[in-house]
Amino acid sequence: MATHNFSALMKNRNDLMEKLVSLCKRRGYVFQSSEIYGGTGSVWDYGPLGVELKNNIKSLWWRSMVYERDDIEGLDAAILMNPAVWVASGHVEGFTDPLVECKNCHRRFRADIPEIQDGQCHVCGSREGFTEPRMFNLMFRTFMGPVEEDAAVVYLRPETAQGIYVNFHNVLTASRQRIPFGIAQVGKAFRNEITPGNFIFRTREFEQMEMQFFVEPGTDDEWLDYWGNQRMEWVKSLGVTASKLRFNEHGPDELAHYAKRAFDIEYELPFGWQEFEGIHNRTDFDLARHQEHSGKKLEYVDPVDRSKRYLPYIVETSAGADRTALIVLADAYREEAVEGEQRIVLGLHPRIAPLKAAIFPLVKKDGLPEIATRIHEEFKAAGINSFYDDSGSIGKRYRRQDEAGTPFGITVDGQTSEDGTVTLRDRDTLAQERIAADRIVAVIQERTR
Ligand code: ATP
Repeated sequence: MATHNFSALMKNRNDLMEKLVSLCKRRGYVFQSSEIYGGTGSVWDYGPLGVELKNNIKSLWWRSMVYERDDIEGLDAAILMNPAVWVASGHVEGFTDPLVECKNCHRRFRADIPEIQDGQCHVCGSREGFTEPRMFNLMFRTFMGPVEEDAAVVYLRPETAQGIYVNFHNVLTASRQRIPFGIAQVGKAFRNEITPGNFIFRTREFEQMEMQFFVEPGTDDEWLDYWGNQRMEWVKSLGVTASKLRFNEHGPDELAHYAKRAFDIEYELPFGWQEFEGIHNRTDFDLARHQEHSGKKLEYVDPVDRSKRYLPYIVETSAGADRTALIVLADAYREEAVEGEQRIVLGLHPRIAPLKAAIFPLVKKDGLPEIATRIHEEFKAAGINSFYDDSGSIGKRYRRQDEAGTPFGITVDGQTSEDGTVTLRDRDTLAQERIAADRIVAVIQERTR
């Protein structure tokens, strides 16, 4: 009985992920990379709606970190760096996962994943066992310049953080900031994950939104708590269900070698509670290592009391843009019956929804398309992403936008030519109200802020 319930539970979980993957493809959120060639291992492309969703997430993050604060500066460091950076950071030596191989089918897995702990290969089903674990470095290597030799090896960065640490002094001097202050960056990172999967949750190419906050030693514990709470509030501001979010503090044996204290922010995805952001107290580990390896002084000199010099401690907030996209999509997906009909809705918060409004002329005559087109043009002029649709019944047009996650539908109908109003339909409540056509752009702007 227990087994039966467990498999029913697993089926529901897989069902939701399958439905989400299928909706993402159908509506143009996420496609498999190089799909016409059979795809490429755990790399995904964002389609017309997906790129808007991810851009909205990244720009809200940037806004909360950089525009709304005086104590954080932005940065866009390059992906390729001097390989000495990765020696200093410890990645060349230690950015590894234990790898084992199934003795029967020779597929390779991370030794610490739950699926293989009972000794059975979950791909071929064999119980022959696995090879002894060996450490596998997750950094992608390539060559700089025309000669493929060891001296020319460079790495695709596995995190954006190091670009911030090596620019600490440049930003400090150029911005005239004082400690405490932070540097924020959004950018691609690459990890040659052994067991990637779960759609865009664990991929080999992904985007991070990282902020490194430099503080005086001794104030680090307080700042860690502060940033944990800030980050949790930010995720909630994207409309994510609060009861599906939690902090998970790392135990002493889970802490990374550089961390004094750390916790993850987790979301309950269909396949369990999963991290999508880490908040870490990295102490002065990174700056000390770069100071030692580069031979350059990275100390901070207090501008008031110049005898006070120290290596700042770093509190890091490190979020994945793709994982954040996955949790908002999973959180938003729902199926429900409306007026006897089943509908699929992506209840995305209007702030992150790719399309803010869809405009529908009820019929393709009586001057309605012209009015609807004019409204659509006004949205374009205001920089608001809207969609014009005049094909199919109005019910079908609403359903398509419900699935796409568009929060508002604007219908131009017979009454519009009489009194200059349009129908505004709310995706979630289905409430319909009449709004003056010449105010509609301002109303949508207000409600999607
Ligand atoms: P995990 O334990 O899941 O491998 P991690 O602890 O190694 O993650 P960090 O190094 O702390 O992750 O990276 C910070 C954030 O970057 C993660 O919370 C996640 O959102 C994102 N991230 C890391 N690896 C991947 C990946 N392979 N695919 C997508 N996002 C990732």
